[in-house]
Amino acid sequence: MNILLLGSGGREHALAWKMLQSEKCSKLIVAPGNAGTSQIAKNVVINPNDFNAVKQLVLAEQIDMVVVGPEDPLVNGVYDFFKNDAELVSIPVIGPSKYGAQLEGSKEFAKEFLVKHNIPTARYESFTAETVEKGYAFLETLKAPYVLKADGLAAGKGVLILNDLAEAKAELKNMLVDAKFGSASAKVVIEEFLSGIELSCFVLTDGKSYKILPTAKDYKRIGEGDTGLNTGGMGAVSPVPFATTEFLSKIEERVVKPTVAGLQKDTIDYKGFVFIGLIKVGDDPFVIEYNVRMGDPETEVVMPRLKTDLVEIFEAMAKQELEKISIEIDERAATTIMMVSGGYPEDYEKGKVITGIETVKDSIVFHAGTSLKENKVVTNGGRVLAVTSYGANYQEAISKSYQSIEKISFEKRYFRKDIGFDL
Ligand code: ATP
Repeated sequence: MNILLLGSGGREHALAWKMLQSEKCSKLIVAPGNAGTSQIAKNVVINPNDFNAVKQLVLAEQIDMVVVGPEDPLVNGVYDFFKNDAELVSIPVIGPSKYGAQLEGSKEFAKEFLVKHNIPTARYESFTAETVEKGYAFLETLKAPYVLKADGLAAGKGVLILNDLAEAKAELKNMLVDAKFGSASAKVVIEEFLSGIELSCFVLTDGKSYKILPTAKDYKRIGEGDTGLNTGGMGAVSPVPFATTEFLSKIEERVVKPTVAGLQKDTIDYKGFVFIGLIKVGDDPFVIEYNVRMGDPETEVVMPRLKTDLVEIFEAMAKQELEKISIEIDERAATTIMMVSGGYPEDYEKGKVITGIETVKDSIVFHAGTSLKENKVVTNGGRVLAVTSYGANYQEAISKSYQSIEKISFEKRYFRKDIGFDL
């Protein structure tokens, strides 16, 4: 089978690595990919949101299946583009329809879905510029901290958590009236603050049945002790030690089952990943958000723990036969540590030569922001490499990742030295 994978991050390198283990995968194209994917597959530089370019590539390379890594092409309707094109209609796209992708593309849509299907989540209301005064009044009914969320995609920056009521009101005005996040904040969801520890649950669905992948916890802040600016993610651990069997069964019963049943009831065409961001409040799970694709860097720990053939899973999803698949998970823990460019998530330089990757023997090095320049691997983004290791437990896996990192150099490299510190 010829497969096209859209995207260019560490997530895509990990998905490519996993799909290439399948005997069913005869050719893999990654578009646009990175230096890591170019070493194991064929990169083709196109913009995944340019669907006509995607179509030309699919036809030229006789692609049999398209796997979508990031959310943008899904939210922009790549699934529907294939469904509505006579030449593409028979080629399955792994991901939800444009309508289903609103679970990530619109916070209001997600909250309405959660409430409608009785899935535990924080109390909320949503507002527009016309109802900003009502927004102020709703804020007054809540206790600090105040959670304001731009409805649309805002590159992970659209959520503000504020301690002061006056500041929350001012930010609400900024978002709604002064378009702080452009059209993404034309609507704002205000919700009750939930206090607890976060984790993520990953589900595969064909719209009828589901399979649960290993849980993972990621580390979002740039600084040690979870301080400083938010990033795309600085590391991840799987499984999550505090996710006991009892807690996992609560997640399955209260969140996963009603989510998949909700997709079916609402006739949402969805054959893809559901990433459920959860918060454990006391002993109970609450949904913080849905994403309609895998997380990055969580993919870099979840895929290494999946023993089942991923291409077979995708094929079964496309045929709505996922129930026939049994998922096997590696008992070992997996952890990943992100090596990033100094300065990230603010300004940083690119083009730094990376050395030592080939000397790493005890870890898997997934490339994120890298490219090839004159046959050398150079940095090409904020998050550069995800160094993943297995271990009998997460402590052992983390220490292997740190040992491997010591073998890899590039100017101004930075990584957090405390991944897993809070477990
Ligand atoms: P991401 O950075 O995952 O893309 P996002 O911009 O889609 O996030 P959310 O995941 O909804 O937005 O929120 C971002 C973060 O804000 C969450 O990971 C969580 O730490 C915090 N947060 C969101 N909602 C709440 C809440 N109701 N109570 C407490 N914290 C919250």
